[in-house]
Amino acid sequence: MGSADFSTVPRPHAIVVGGGLAGLAAAAALSGSGCQVTVLEARRRAGGRAASFEDPVAGGLVDACQHVAMGCCTNFLDLCRQAGFADALRRDRTLWFIGPDDRRAACRPTRLLPAPLHLAPLLLGMRHFTLGEKTRLAVGMLRLARWRAVEGVSSPTAAAWLRSIGQPERVIDLFWQPVLESALGESIDLVDLAAARKVAVDAFLAHREAADLFVPTEPLGRLFGERLVAWLTGRGVVVEAGATVTGLDRGDRGEVVAVQTAAGPRTGNAVILAVPWRTAGKLAATVVPAADSRVVGSPITAVHLWFDRDAIDLPHAVLVGRVSQWVFRPDDAPPGYCQVVISASRGLLDGDRDRLRDTVVGELRRAFPAAREARLVESRVVTDPTAVLSVRPGVEAIRPAATTAIANLFLAGDWTATGWPSTMEGAVRSGRIAASAAATHLGLAATPLTPDLPKGPLVRLLLG
Ligand SMILES: Cc1cc2nc3c(=O)[nH]c(=O)nc-3n(C[C@H](O)[C@H](O)[C@H](O)COP(=O)(O)OP(=O)(O)OC[C@H]3O[C@@H](n4cnc5c(N)ncnc54)[C@H](O)[C@@H]3O)c2cc1C
Repeated sequence: MGSADFSTVPRPHAIVVGGGLAGLAAAAALSGSGCQVTVLEARRRAGGRAASFEDPVAGGLVDACQHVAMGCCTNFLDLCRQAGFADALRRDRTLWFIGPDDRRAACRPTRLLPAPLHLAPLLLGMRHFTLGEKTRLAVGMLRLARWRAVEGVSSPTAAAWLRSIGQPERVIDLFWQPVLESALGESIDLVDLAAARKVAVDAFLAHREAADLFVPTEPLGRLFGERLVAWLTGRGVVVEAGATVTGLDRGDRGEVVAVQTAAGPRTGNAVILAVPWRTAGKLAATVVPAADSRVVGSPITAVHLWFDRDAIDLPHAVLVGRVSQWVFRPDDAPPGYCQVVISASRGLLDGDRDRLRDTVVGELRRAFPAAREARLVESRVVTDPTAVLSVRPGVEAIRPAATTAIANLFLAGDWTATGWPSTMEGAVRSGRIAASAAATHLGLAATPLTPDLPKGPLVRLLLG
């Protein structure tokens, strides 16, 4: 009996709709599985919300909003490594805090103590807290880590719970608020306590490297829109920009047989919808849970500032107790450029952009001596009103899984049920989970999830 000629057997074709990080991660996970992969992206450039625009002052690209990852973002970091640009992420082990009195604190976890004791120097370094406040903060962090949701009972919001356990207002305002709001992109008055616990455990307590900050040193548009796409293309993935999907065609057994674009239908054996929740709902209303009133986006604002000289002498800083939350001076930016990021910016200064710019510049001038001498040349305020999914109590229960009632249709996106908030890590995880499910459907194997950072024995003991 002669061997079968597999070269004549057509390869299965997976179509990924949406070229944000979720769609690109799904394509990466499927590439090399023996499956043909096509990504259809509506915009001119892939990358989705992790996007850049043309710098109006110096040319080149500026990120619409600075994105950062943390050491706990194992899947995002793994994808960057795989695609060959892990070196384009700067690892900041020292977190710079600037207290309300403008004093700087270089807070750095130690590699010498096991987790969670590695956080002791970070906590002690916060010069804007008294020893008593530091102790209360540490106790609050441990109680949060040990908190468990009760099945069937809606969890409280983070702020309500922190007050109920007696966390001092100063600790809430100067630690919990900036840390949780920047990690979750939503006000602590609104976020589910379970999401806050995840930040405390995964991003701080779990591992000595969990809180390391990873800051892109190249614009997101270049990293994801160009380098990630080029790497995928090299692996045989077809990434088509400007290809808006307008509908799904169903076969006799209800399966998706093609997706509709202006250029005509594209046939595939499996389809991954990696578009925002409402778009997915329009394309596949019968299987995507309705994005009802519980599904709310949370806004993030970036204030872009071009001074006539360098105004910021730190790579990043958390500005506590102010309107400005984080300031970044990107490595590749022209001299004088910096960006201030404000999460949960709903109703900020009544939406008055000029007032916001003046407030932010005033805060920078107080905190950074060099900014006092610098002349503001140009500014731009960019708000994404639905930057991330607001992780309020109740929303977790309706975030859908990757598999759907249609056997060959899968969902990805930072809004799907990954257990993670809307982040680059959440998006990459969702893409990998959807790709695994699609690969299984096609009888193939895709890149599995990268494991979380391992929790040491002390942490496991602490969590109970
Ligand atoms: C201002 C801001 C700041 C942020 N800061 C951080 C941060 O510091 N750290 C962090 O980890 N995360 C951050 N995030 C969140 C992060 O950007 C997102 O979680 C992530 O990029 C989401 O990826 P996604 O692929 O799920 O969705 P998206 O990026 O929204 O991708 C969806 C893609 O689908 C495409 N699409 C839509 N409709 C169609 C259609 N009909 N046909 C074809 N294509 C379609 C869209 O054009 C888009 O490219 C931030 C987000 C914003 C907006």
